[in-house]
Amino acid sequence: MSCTFCKIIQGQIPSTAVYQDEFGYAFADIHPMAPVHVLVVPREHISSLDAADESKRALLGHLLWAAAEIARKKGLGNGYRIVVNTGEDGGQTVDHLHLHLLGGRLLNWPPG
Ligand code: AMP
Ligand code: ZN
Repeated sequence: MSCTFCKIIQGQIPSTAVYQDEFGYAFADIHPMAPVHVLVVPREHISSLDAADESKRALLGHLLWAAAEIARKKGLGNGYRIVVNTGEDGGQTVDHLHLHLLGGRLLNWPPG
């Protein structure tokens, strides 16, 4: 398995765990873009949001809930952003579905 995030989930690549449960794992982004920058990933390998078919609907909802739960635990009561870069135009660089949780500063909109 050559997937970086699968290796992180399996502990073959070190990471700083933020949250974990049966379905997902969350860890600190290695190149943080904000004071809080956490990646939330499914334990199961799914290459992108586009590759998540109807059978993944509940899992997708669970990951979004987990991101909101992490935001609450991190004290991001002033707001935050969830980003799911998808495919080449979306700027996805790791082909394992992940949610970015960004917070702790005012985030610009629109993104570049
Ligand atoms: P994306 O561009 O949406 O595919 O984002 C991939 C993210 O994964 C980037 O923000 C990277 O900094 C992050 N990343 C890549 N490798 C690692 C790693 N080994 N540990 C933590 N974050 C990583
Ligand atoms: Zn993977």
